[in-house]
Amino acid sequence: MSHSTDFQDSHLHLSHLSQEDIDNIVSKALNLNIQRLFANTAEEEEWAGAIQAGKRWQAVTPFLGIHPWYAAHATPGWQERLERISRETGCAIGEIGLDKKCRTETETQESVFKDQLEIAYRHGRPISIHCLGRWERTINMLQDARGQKQGTPLLFHSYSGSVETMQRLIRLGASISFSLQNLNQKKSFEVMLQTPLEHILLETDLSYQVQDKATKQKATIEHIILLYEKVAKARHISVKELCEQTWKNGSIFTIKGTNRRKKSGKTGST
Ligand SMILES: [Zn+2]
Repeated sequence: MSHSTDFQDSHLHLSHLSQEDIDNIVSKALNLNIQRLFANTAEEEEWAGAIQAGKRWQAVTPFLGIHPWYAAHATPGWQERLERISRETGCAIGEIGLDKKCRTETETQESVFKDQLEIAYRHGRPISIHCLGRWERTINMLQDARGQKQGTPLLFHSYSGSVETMQRLIRLGASISFSLQNLNQKKSFEVMLQTPLEHILLETDLSYQVQDKATKQKATIEHIILLYEKVAKARHISVKELCEQTWKNGSIFTIKGTNRRKKSGKTGST
C-alpha cells in the first residue's frame, strides 16, 4: 500500500474540544490527506476524550499522559489508572516531560515524569516527550527508566534544543518533531536541516501553538501542509518524498492492529 501523498501530524491536541469540533478537525484532515494524527493529552481529564477519538477515527492515535504544567494537580491514584488504560487499550504515553519555564516544582515534575516513563517502558509503549531546557536531566531519566529493558519509540515534540542534543537523542533512537513555531526560529531551522530524514517528524501542536507570531494566529490542521512544503523545499526533496519518509518514521508510534489506515476514516457509528 502506498502512502505517497499522505501527511501526518505527529503532535496535536484534540481531547479538550467537543466531539463535534474533533469530528470537524479529523474530517478536514482526511479531506486534505492528513491520514495520521497523534492526539496528545496534558492531564487525566483529557484521557477519555483521546481514547474515544481513537475509537471513532482510525487516523487518530491516542497518547495519554500528564504534562509538566499539570503535574502538581494530578489526582492521587493516576498511575494505576494510566497503567490500566494503557494495558487495556495499548495507548501510547504523552505528552510528558520536564520544563524549565513552568511553575510546577522541579521535584513534582520529575516524580510525575519518572512514573510515566516507568509505565511506558514496562509495557513497551511509545512516548511523546515535551522538554524545555532540561535536556541533561531528561536524557538521564530516560536512561534510568529504560534500565535493562528493551527500548521503546521516543518522540521529542516541538524540538527546541541544540544540534548536539539532537544528535544524542538520535543515538537513543529518538524521532525529532518540529512545528511551524520552531521553524520560525533560525536556530531550530538549522537543527531541522541537520536532522537525518529518517528521524524527522512534523506537527502542528494544534491548538497550543501560534503559527504566526505577528498575527498570533493559532495553528490549524491545514498548517501541517505548509510545514511539509517548507521542510521539503529546505531539504531539496519533494513533498512526496517527505511524506513517504515521515509516514515510515511515524509507523513505530501507531498501535498495532488498531490504527490501520483506512480511507473511510470513521470506525464507530456515532
Ligand atoms: Zn503539545
